Amino acid sequence: MGTPRDWATLERLPAPQLRAVQDAALRRFVREELYPFSAHYRRVFDEARVRPESIARIADLQRLPLTTKQDLLRAQSTPQTRYDFVLRPSPDRIRAHWPFLRKLALVLGGARAREALRFQYTPNFLTFTTGRSSEPVGFAYTPFDLQVLQQGIARMFDIAGLDPARDRLVNLFPFAPHLAFWAVTLGGFETGALVVPSGGGKVMGTDGSLRLIERMKPTVLVGTPGFTYHVLRRGNELGTSFADVHTVILGAEKVPPGLKDKLLEALRTGGAAAVRIIGTYGFTEARMAWAECPSADNHSTGYHLHPDLGVFEVIEPKSGAVVPDGEDGELVYTGILGHGTCVLRYRTGDLCVGGLTWKPCSSCGRTLPRIGAELRRVSEQHSLSLTKVKGTLVDLSVMGSVLAAMRDVEEWQVVISKRNDDPLELDQLEVRVAPRAGANADELVKSIRRDLANATEVAPNEVHVLTLHEMLEHLGMESAMKEKRFLDRRPKS
Ligand SMILES: [Zn+2]
Repeated sequence: MGTPRDWATLERLPAPQLRAVQDAALRRFVREELYPFSAHYRRVFDEARVRPESIARIADLQRLPLTTKQDLLRAQSTPQTRYDFVLRPSPDRIRAHWPFLRKLALVLGGARAREALRFQYTPNFLTFTTGRSSEPVGFAYTPFDLQVLQQGIARMFDIAGLDPARDRLVNLFPFAPHLAFWAVTLGGFETGALVVPSGGGKVMGTDGSLRLIERMKPTVLVGTPGFTYHVLRRGNELGTSFADVHTVILGAEKVPPGLKDKLLEALRTGGAAAVRIIGTYGFTEARMAWAECPSADNHSTGYHLHPDLGVFEVIEPKSGAVVPDGEDGELVYTGILGHGTCVLRYRTGDLCVGGLTWKPCSSCGRTLPRIGAELRRVSEQHSLSLTKVKGTLVDLSVMGSVLAAMRDVEEWQVVISKRNDDPLELDQLEVRVAPRAGANADELVKSIRRDLANATEVAPNEVHVLTLHEMLEHLGMESAMKEKRFLDRRPKS
């Protein structure tokens, strides 16, 4: 029935063989799982007049339309279509679509085989998307999918160079039905590594997380970039030792420019020697995450993919056409091993600089395909980070990058509002900053005005200098699930 491949062999297979593995997995998945059991994709294939048997290799996916977040939202908006993306086998469909030997095994296996089938296809877990502007979308996992995720994260630990027998991990991701927290937790269950969660700012809080670190003396910290840095900074204030930490794994959010240096500095202050900082990329819709491998100077060689579990295509965002390897474009994802909620050609909205490569990794030598580590939101209408301020289209993520990269900015927040909260009035752009200790606040305000105007063509109406304590309150570092970097307080018209 298809289980994840032997990793030690897979990670070093030559690219042509990996592509063959991928093609075979895709064929099997489309014919025996997706088309028969997914109401949504059965419709998509039929409307596009594509027979599932005609999908033989990855390039054939281009004959099918892309799936968008809107498709998922639409499906979950009515009771009749709620489970259209979830694989739901039935005796009729199995009879019509499974190959003879697979059916025979089911018949010969009797009640036990039928019970196993039910178990492997019945959802027993969900995680949700955390979109800012739309309803959360739930993604269902069955016991089979949890195994696949566990395997994927075990591979991630391996790529990150962890030793499950020796390493001790503190998981700082927020405790919630979100992918990141559970992925790390399951990775520990799978590998046998000691992984202890603090639940993040809202559960044990910063000081609680630091007490956990004092007690466990972890070798690895895992968390979101913002909260992990906050914990280290607070640890420096309290004199917490980070002497045993050799690796920091960041996830769930983009790593802002300049943050790796700030993390290293705080770790050094806490007594750590050389620390590898590893970024990861993952999203709810894939029910999977991928990691960079450690490299000299923490230089990224991209995220290492699992070619037997899923496929990335890179498209030109406007036309939707697939671009050649090595070219920039939007990432599109298809899972090729899974039950529960499954997506095919899902538009991530993430623009990947450098796209996809099949060249062996220059750092670890693995032959797995990789995607470039520099990701941006696709600048299109559907992008959530794009908003009109004072009549100019502004990419908020660019604004965030500018502020995060400034050495003298310790923490920051951007607030967009209407003057006097009047919907007909002009937009107001306010930047709040807590300067780094010892920085000249007046100079900082000037640089912020200049750099933001250069990067986005919109100058802030006001730059407010706050204390770090005030900033942390505004950001909700201890009270919110994730820190509030951008507040749009304009009344909805
Ligand atoms: Zn590598």
